[in-house]
Amino acid sequence: MSVTPKCPACGIDATAEIGQAGACRLWRCACGLVFADRATWSDPYSARDYYDPANQPAESYPLRFTATERDRISTVRRLVRSGRLLDFGGGTGKTALAAHAAGFSAIVLEDSHKAVEYGRAHHSEIEWHEGKTIPDSIADGSLDVVTLFHVMEHLLDPRALLAQIHRKLRHGGLLVVEVPNWGSHMRCLRGLRWEFVLDHHVNHFTSSSLARLVENAGFARRATEFRRTFAINEGQPWKEPLKKLLCLLGFGDILRCSFLKTA
Ligand SMILES: [Zn+2]
Repeated sequence: MSVTPKCPACGIDATAEIGQAGACRLWRCACGLVFADRATWSDPYSARDYYDPANQPAESYPLRFTATERDRISTVRRLVRSGRLLDFGGGTGKTALAAHAAGFSAIVLEDSHKAVEYGRAHHSEIEWHEGKTIPDSIADGSLDVVTLFHVMEHLLDPRALLAQIHRKLRHGGLLVVEVPNWGSHMRCLRGLRWEFVLDHHVNHFTSSSLARLVENAGFARRATEFRRTFAINEGQPWKEPLKKLLCLLGFGDILRCSFLKTA
């Protein structure tokens, strides 16, 4: 007999089994979080480097950031206009490059050895750290902004990371979180065939379940935005107004929330 798993956001027993999605058994908690049963889950990237050219299309260095990263930093600048910004799980560093161009002192923390190795070699304007936790060399209270673009859906223990981020941010510092939006109409229509139900996505958030988790870690929500898709299509910018309209109608597949450290 299977054991009811505990919610990684609030620690209580899940209330409903959602179904099998690939290798994941998904459950829902009363807090609204949908999550993969950790007991039956194994990391598909445990033995390989996500940004190794063998797994991802090769990037051409030096990198250029795009409208997608500019859009991310425009969200940051609505609440904090300068200072030290850490992009946690920052990948190849494009978001950090957009932050640097906007006047921030930008730091990337990234688990992929390849991404950090290439980044260090080509982009000395960025401070690079390899790993899964914020290093001790970044002092408590020393960061003005932390960004988590498509990180929280991957974390087995999101509360542990939020506690660490809370410590490293200054009082009033900004945390921006972007995740796939489980509450989107598109997800409801497609069920478990929705494009963001993936083996390496272990948490699925709605606007309210994300806010509850982050607020419990000592933050207050200041803004909620939706985007239709993961990236802005630079080749067809005329589609953007239509995508904004679809977001207003509830078809935003991407959820972006801004929080300030209060407690
Ligand atoms: Zn919960």
